[in-house]
Amino acid sequence: MNYPKRNKIIQLIYIFTFILSLLVINCNNNGNINNSLKQNIVNILEEKTSAHKSIQSSKERKKHPQKTQSTPIGKSFLIGKIDYASDTSFVLLDKKYHTKSLMYLEKETAKAFIRMYQAAKNDGINLLVVSGARNYYSQKSIWERKFNRNLQVGLSPIDNAIKILKYSSMPSTSRHHWGTEVDINNLEPSYFESGNGKLEYDWLNKNAHKFGFCQVYSKFEEKDRTTGYQKEAWHWSYIPKSRYFLDKYNELVDYEDINGFLGSLLAKELNMIEEYVNGISSTCY
Ligand SMILES: [Zn+2]
Repeated sequence: MNYPKRNKIIQLIYIFTFILSLLVINCNNNGNINNSLKQNIVNILEEKTSAHKSIQSSKERKKHPQKTQSTPIGKSFLIGKIDYASDTSFVLLDKKYHTKSLMYLEKETAKAFIRMYQAAKNDGINLLVVSGARNYYSQKSIWERKFNRNLQVGLSPIDNAIKILKYSSMPSTSRHHWGTEVDINNLEPSYFESGNGKLEYDWLNKNAHKFGFCQVYSKFEEKDRTTGYQKEAWHWSYIPKSRYFLDKYNELVDYEDINGFLGSLLAKELNMIEEYVNGISSTCY
């Protein structure tokens, strides 16, 4: 092969190699671009999904705090026939958090209340439980004391029950049986209308949902709640647990289970399950 010809071949090899390397680089770049584009799309999708999830979960937390209960619950527990002292789902609340000599709460409710108590304390607000878990037998003694008193002033059985039901439950129909309810600071509506009571109520309205608590007996409003007890500014329910118990109550309990106390036959006539047990704020469910 003569020199110029060999030179031309080398030149062609160089040009070919150059073009080939350009193609390879281009392919790689395309690959990189495609890969990074894919990655971006994945990132965007993931961000969107997680943003959506976090918006949803904060909304959920406000309206429906996370459900945690999964163990099966029996009828006798739901209607309050339980001894809190011997049931491991309940704990004695430390004295600094309540006003009674002994106070039981459902375990997770107690933990959530303590978290809320601390947060309130940091904001200069004092929250004390004035009533927590109350079983069938203590509700029976409250109910019958009021029933007997009203009988003595001549009220008919139905008017008697309706009067008590403004603020107190029939045994076997009280959410307090479940240990998920706390009455806070005072049982008088007027207490929460001014002074410390108003500050405490305002704080609870603003913050209680962050700890899973909701005011189940809100004021009567067409689109929220039209039946059941009067507004109770003091009564707050730990929804992650109580929502589950209400579901189970509706599934398992019937009027024949509500018995054994003065006036118990009126439960059906007064639609206790539909209008009182389920007469809670729609924002708490
Ligand atoms: Zn209460």
